[in-house]
Amino acid sequence: MTTNTSKSFNGVLKRARGLPIHALVSATYYHCIALFLKRGEDTLKWENDAVSRFVPKVMIMLGNREAAARNLCRPVQINRTEFSCYDDKNIAYCVLLTDDQCSCSCHSMILYHVPCAHMIASLASIRCSYEPLISDFYTISSYKNTYSGSFHGIPDSTG
Ligand SMILES: [Zn+2]
Repeated sequence: MTTNTSKSFNGVLKRARGLPIHALVSATYYHCIALFLKRGEDTLKWENDAVSRFVPKVMIMLGNREAAARNLCRPVQINRTEFSCYDDKNIAYCVLLTDDQCSCSCHSMILYHVPCAHMIASLASIRCSYEPLISDFYTISSYKNTYSGSFHGIPDSTG
């Protein structure tokens, strides 16, 4: 969806550009190790802080969406599982909340696996939490598993 990952990786390679291939691969390898160590340390800090079971970046995103949800008009409940939610430009969004499907016509849930402001407002109108809708991909334990891989030193090929 974005080129952020490739741009980030390009930033790593920018410093190694012009090096022989062995040095280029080594620089990339050791950069990955440093990244995994840093993110592993971040995970330990988040676990010790015990603020949330989700990573801080998602908590910030959800805070912004909660604020946006508070600025929406009160959603209109169409039936037991459907809501119409209007934004400040009077654009209607259809929110569907069933046991097996939670969606919104803004498609944010499909793209990010995090409830949008329309879903948060709809759930708030029936006094339900949106937290069960947040993907487990964003939990600190998933993040920890992602960066739990181990690396090993590479012996010098000339020795
Ligand atoms: Zn939406």
